Amino acid sequence: VLFALAFFVVLAILGARAIARKRRERPALAEFTVAGFADVDRQVSGQRRCACGRRFDVDGEGPRKSKDGSERWGVNLVCVCGRRRTLLFVVAN
Ligand SMILES: [Zn+2]
Repeated sequence: VLFALAFFVVLAILGARAIARKRRERPALAEFTVAGFADVDRQVSGQRRCACGRRFDVDGEGPRKSKDGSERWGVNLVCVCGRRRTLLFVVAN
């Protein structure tokens, strides 16, 4: 009985870890339409609050290709808690 109990405890711990890892690795993607690149910084600073209450750090940014040829600017945000967010800016003409 003790062995079976320990087995289930290990299974539960492994399951919880796998779910937590999956949630951490999947970046939340948000897309915004801006009038110009000047608006990107303003939008990013307004989106930097993480669900844990801390602030996201900018992990990297750069142009993103899109199928329809429109200009896009991607900003990767990462928090110390492990959450990630990707902001995608579409520059409207
Ligand atoms: Zn966080």
